[in-house]
Order: sequence, then C-alpha cells, then structure tokens
Amino acid sequence: MNSNNILDTPVEFLKGVGPQRGELLKKELEISTFEDLLYHYPYRYFDRTQVTKIAQIVPSSEFVQMIGKLVNINEEGEGRKKRLVATLFDGSGSIELVWFQGAQWVRKTLMEQTTYIVFGRVSYFNGVPNIAHPELELLNAETNIAGMQPVYPTTEKLRQKGLSNRSFAKVTQSLFEKVKQHDIPEILPSNILTQYRLCSRYQAIRWIHFPDTDEHMQAARYRLKWEELFASQMMIARIRLQHTIQQGWKFEKVGEYFNGFYNNHLPFQLTNAQKRVLKEIRIDTATGKQMNRLVQGDVGSGKTIVAVMAMLLAMDNGFQACMMAPTEILAQQHFQGIKSLLEPMGIAVALLTGSVKGKERKEILKGLADGSIPVAVGTHALIEDKVQFHNLGMAVIDEQHRFGVGQRARLWEKNAHPPHILVMTATPIPRTLAMTMYGDLDVSVIDELPPGRQEIKTIYRTDIYRAKVMEFVRSEVDKGRQVYIVYPLIEESEKMDYESLIAGYDQVKIWFPEGKYRIAMVHGRQDPEERQRNMARFIGGDANVLVATTVIEVGVNVPNASVMVIESAERFGLSQLHQLRGRVGRGSEQSYCILLAGNKLSEDSKQRMSIMEATANGFVIAEKDLEMRGPGDIYGTRQSGVIKFKLADIVQDSTILEQTRVAAQQLIAEDPGLTLPQHQLLKYTLLKQAHQSEWSKIS
Ligand code: ADP
Ligand code: MG
Repeated sequence: MNSNNILDTPVEFLKGVGPQRGELLKKELEISTFEDLLYHYPYRYFDRTQVTKIAQIVPSSEFVQMIGKLVNINEEGEGRKKRLVATLFDGSGSIELVWFQGAQWVRKTLMEQTTYIVFGRVSYFNGVPNIAHPELELLNAETNIAGMQPVYPTTEKLRQKGLSNRSFAKVTQSLFEKVKQHDIPEILPSNILTQYRLCSRYQAIRWIHFPDTDEHMQAARYRLKWEELFASQMMIARIRLQHTIQQGWKFEKVGEYFNGFYNNHLPFQLTNAQKRVLKEIRIDTATGKQMNRLVQGDVGSGKTIVAVMAMLLAMDNGFQACMMAPTEILAQQHFQGIKSLLEPMGIAVALLTGSVKGKERKEILKGLADGSIPVAVGTHALIEDKVQFHNLGMAVIDEQHRFGVGQRARLWEKNAHPPHILVMTATPIPRTLAMTMYGDLDVSVIDELPPGRQEIKTIYRTDIYRAKVMEFVRSEVDKGRQVYIVYPLIEESEKMDYESLIAGYDQVKIWFPEGKYRIAMVHGRQDPEERQRNMARFIGGDANVLVATTVIEVGVNVPNASVMVIESAERFGLSQLHQLRGRVGRGSEQSYCILLAGNKLSEDSKQRMSIMEATANGFVIAEKDLEMRGPGDIYGTRQSGVIKFKLADIVQDSTILEQTRVAAQQLIAEDPGLTLPQHQLLKYTLLKQAHQSEWSKIS
C-alpha cells in the first residue's frame, strides 16, 4: 500500500524483460508494473505432460506439443515471399515448421541437431501438415515439463521480440520469485470467504497463472470472478446509498399543468401500466430525495407521454425540465411531438442540438439560464458546460443505452440539487445486465401496449424471393401505407455498405417509379439538414418509401408506416432487428416486417431469423441476444466501461452475480462508509479501481 510496494516496480526490471520489451509490453498490452503483469491472466493452459507423436498428427489435431530434433533449417523463397523453414523429426515422423516474419531473428536462435519442445497449431497445406510460427523451447535438464503451461494474450510484435507463450510464462514465473504471499494480501472479509468458499487472493492469483491441477485452476477462476463482480456490485451499492441520502427537489403538488393536460389535452386514455409508472414517479419526487428511475418498456409501449407528464409535474412545482435523445433526428421528432402537445397549453418548448447555431442558440441559452424557457428537448448538446439552467428539476434521458454512465452523471452537476432523473429505454434489459449497468437505478416497467395494436407479422425470406417481396410491398403502398427499407451500415464510414445502399436505392426506384411514387433516403453521410429534410418528407407522409440505414433505428414514430423491409438482415443483431421492427405496428393497420437475407446463412443467423419470426416479446429477444452475443456488443456498453470484466461473464456467471449483489448490499448495510478496520484493504482497492474507471465520474 505504500509507494515502495514491490507491485509498483516497473516490469522492465524483471528477469527476461529489460527496457526494450518493457516498453513494448506497455505499448501493446498496457503492462507497465509487476502488478499489471500479475493481473494479465492466461486465457488458456496447455497440459505439458501431453506430447503428441508426429506420426499421429491428424487434421483435427489443432494445437500439439511435440518433442523432437531440428534437422534442417533453410530460408526459402525470394523478396516478400521469403520464409524460414525447419524440419522437426521425432523418430515417428517429421513435420515442417515455418516462419514468415522475423525469420532472421528466429534463425539466429535455432540450432540444428538439437532437441526442442515444440508447440503450435497444425495447419494443412496441400494435404501436408505444418506449423507456422511455432514456439520452441530447448529441452534440457532444467526444462519443466510437468503441470499446466499458461497461455497469455500477446501480440505479434511481442512475439517477434521473443515474448511468445513459453517465454511469457517464464517471465511470469520469475515474477512469482519476486512477489510473495504478503505482497498480495486478502481484501475480502473473512466471513465472505467462508460463506462462499473462496480461496485466498494470493492462492487464486498464483493458481490462475500456474495451476497444478484443473481443480486449482477452477478454484482460482471462481474466486477472481467473484472478486470482480463483487467490486462492481460494491460500487453500485455505494452509489445507491448516495442516492438515498442525496437531497433532491421536493415536488409538493400536482397542479394545473399536470391536471390540465390530463383532463383536456391527453389524446388518448393512459394504459394501466403508464398510470402505474406515473404514480411511481410522483411518489419518488415527493420524498425530497433525488429520483433515479429507469423506465423500461418495449418499443411502442408509450414511454414518451409518461416522460411528458413527468415534465409537467416539474413545471407544476416551478421547475424546468429537459429531455435528452441520442440522435438529432430523435430529438427533432420529440421536439415536434412535445411542442404540439404543450404549446396549446401556452408552454414554450425549445430545441437544442448541435446544429442549432448563432443567434437562435444564444437566445435559447439565455432562456434556459433565466428560466423563461421551461422545457428543452435536445441531444447531448444539453449537457455541454455552456448550457446553464435556471432551475432544472427533471431530466429525462430517452434510449439510455446510447449514453454512458458518465454522461448521465454530468446532468447532476447542473444545479445546486441534482434534477430528478428519468431514464427511458426501449430495449428490455435482461436482469443480469440491468444489475450491472443500471443497478443504481430504481426500475419501472411498462409491460402493456396501448390498445388496438395489431401483432406485426414477421417473415424471413432469402434473396431469391426479392421480386415477390417487392411486389407485395408495392401493393401495400398502393393501399396508402408507407414503407421503410433498411440497409445495414454498421460503421457509417464503411464504403461497401454505402455503395450497397446506393445500389439498393437505385433498385427501389425501379420498383417504385418516379411520378407514381416518391422515395426519400436518409443515411449517416448526409449532412444533418439534408437528412432531416428527407426524414420530414417521410414523417409528413409526402414520401411513400424511406430508404434508410440504421439511423432510423430508435424511437422514430410514423403510425402510417406499416411495412419494414430489412435488407441483409443476417448482419443485424437480434436486439437491433427488434428495434427496427418496432418502427412499424404503430397504427391500426396490419403491419409487416420482412427480413431479407442472403441465400447462404450460418446456423447462428438462421436461429436469429427464426427467433424474430417466433416472438415479438422484446424481453425474450434481449435474453437470447445476450446469450448469443455476450454483453459487450449489445447496448453499446463496451465503451461505457462499466461491465468490462477480465474473467466474469454476466450471462454465464449469473449465479456469482446474484451472490455478490447480496453480499455487497449486506456489507454496505453493515458498514456504509467502509470504516471498519477489516474493510480498509477492500476500500482501498475499490477506490483505486474506481479511480481507473468511469465510476470516478459518478461518485
Ligand atoms: P415508445 O415507448 O416506443 O417511446 P411512444 O411513446 O413513441 O412509444 O408511443 C408510441 C405511439 O403510441 C405513439 O404514437 C403514442 O402517441 C401512442 N400511445 C402512447 N400511449 C398510448 C395510449 N395509452 N393509447 C393509445 N396510444 C398511445
Ligand atoms: Mg420512444
């Protein structure tokens, strides 16, 4: 814990590293100290007692370990095709070893007629097995060939500098000669260790690098996963605790704005689910504590109106309110919708996005600062430092998963008291993910769709049915409906995607000839103004067909649009497909979602398509998606840094997750400030971790 802790020693001072490799370790793997190296875990192990005879190698062998003599070392080929080839012979047969890179360096290190342990992945070239870039270790009296050999994540550059699997393992081995048991003290309270049968921290770290048996390896992984998940649940428990003591604005009354709207301006009857959530919001905001609530509701469940009424509640109590959306298009649409609801009541609504500039922007900023603008809708432009509110009482964040946790936290800094926070998400979040991402929020669920909605018919067709599909789509347009045709464009910069979008657009024009039909197109390469103009043509009903990329994914609401065609549907994830499908089925007409996919689909893709056909339940879909893809790719959580675990997987390790949640809550209840002596090391470790992550912005 003090500054001359051995764990803070630069990694270059370790035997087998030195300044050059030290520099490279830092650059390639962000390993600069002993401690970093200690936490650089192997991702798999090789049982070193398993030696394969060369003659027994078969195409399915994959990774093999052999012991043999190098009999031939030659450079072959010319120029860029130059490579180093060696032959390994073990009495049963021989195999070729090949190096395409670093041949000169490798050559210097190898000796003919010498026995090596050779390890690598077998590949076949013209039916003959060989091993590219194998790892070699001289076989001599010192060579340890018992136990499990750790395999570390490494990079090509490090390998070229001699830090491949085996030498990497040697480096960690020498690390454990320096780092002793007392350097890795226990941080978990002993009652937790006993209750959950966890091995000690030192034991776990030692075993994860060098397990003697499979059981030790499992015990180590279990303990370390437990610690990871526990740390995140402790952070969450502490933030929750802060919420419960954080003073918030007290909304004493339900007044004219709320009631007037409810009685005279509400265009429909609220569903029971909507009423229930509003009640929860009213209770929260009346306590004098800050509200932090997540409203979870499937696409089309009517979250917007709930948000609007929460904003009216703020105004009834003399406060301003804002709503933040993840994209310009969505902000624009919310602005139009909210304006048309509130302006008849004499409430001014302002739009603040990146593209609002000059004099207009100045006036809005002034109005927000002096309180003359009670309601603002916008993008993250709303939380820029320059934007000051007179008294922001309610901040609604729509489609939260696009916002990082840190951004959410920034809203709090806008005022003496932080505003009440209402987060709305259309993607039902599986329980395990919610526990890690939104564990600090109270959750409301809108589990009911407004009446009169028809189920969306979803069908999956391969490309050969394209003509039939387009004929069907046209017949729907001829009945007066509007249609979305969506193309994948994962990265807006991907050229091929852009080209296929344009090609698609040209094809759509053949099916929907000019004069009779009107087509609009939106994509991320257009400037915002053009994109909005085109979008407006579709929203206003002027265009029959909208050719689009996923920029329309979230929240866009055009009730007359009843058909959604998704091109190359196999390239979308389940949750994304569900989001897109949610754009239709918003009016009273029968709606359709047609998934067009390539003729050759992987098993995974086929499964996704049939899940889409089989269910419209966003929750089921989200669970499946999490199962099939893992949490990182979903909900853009990768960059949020909140659920980045080294070993734990919130799907597979959900049991541990549940345990750690309970344990963390218990511990915080016992010792809220972690002031007891037996919790000091834990506190220190948590603070250190928080400091290195996004959590620091929150607390
Ligand atoms: P989402 O939850 O996806 O944000 P929206 O708030 O955009 O859904 O609502 C979808 C559509 O349903 C909108 O056209 C909205 O006006 C309508 N709507 C919302 N609540 C009700 C209700 N209780 N009855 C009828 N229509 C409703
Ligand atoms: Mg919405």
